[in-house]
Amino acid sequence: MAPDDLDGLYRDAILDHCRNPRNRALVERPDVSANAVNPFCGDEVRLQAALDSDGRISRIGLQAVGCAINQASGSMLTEAVLGRTIKEARAASDAFQAMMQGRDTAAVEGPLTALAGVKKAPVRVKCALLAWSALDDGIEDEERRRKDTSGLIPD
Ligand code: ZN
Repeated sequence: MAPDDLDGLYRDAILDHCRNPRNRALVERPDVSANAVNPFCGDEVRLQAALDSDGRISRIGLQAVGCAINQASGSMLTEAVLGRTIKEARAASDAFQAMMQGRDTAAVEGPLTALAGVKKAPVRVKCALLAWSALDDGIEDEERRRKDTSGLIPD
């Protein structure tokens, strides 16, 4: 595949998610919620997720404003982690961050691989990572809450 074709694929996947963002509806009474801001380009992300009794993400809502990369990455994130446990979501986040930092691309699957092309514009890497940092923050808060109550509720 010629590099130019690859760029076209990247562009199409990013534009598709940007024009038709998935899972944009606000989730009521979320177990996980977090906001993140990237002042360098005016990107903002609000994320909510509800967990089922197995600790899986049963509903997710993400509202992203700002540049196309931020919006596309947020939309792709929701599809990547819906139905996963928070531990699996955390692993997906680690894998995505490793890819964006140029360390390892092997563990990233699906449309998210389109965002690897963003590495060519280092200033945009922050845009691609914003939604994932919100996810990490929200999961950390939820895990802290669970730990606080773990004396009461057995694993
Ligand atoms: Zn941006």
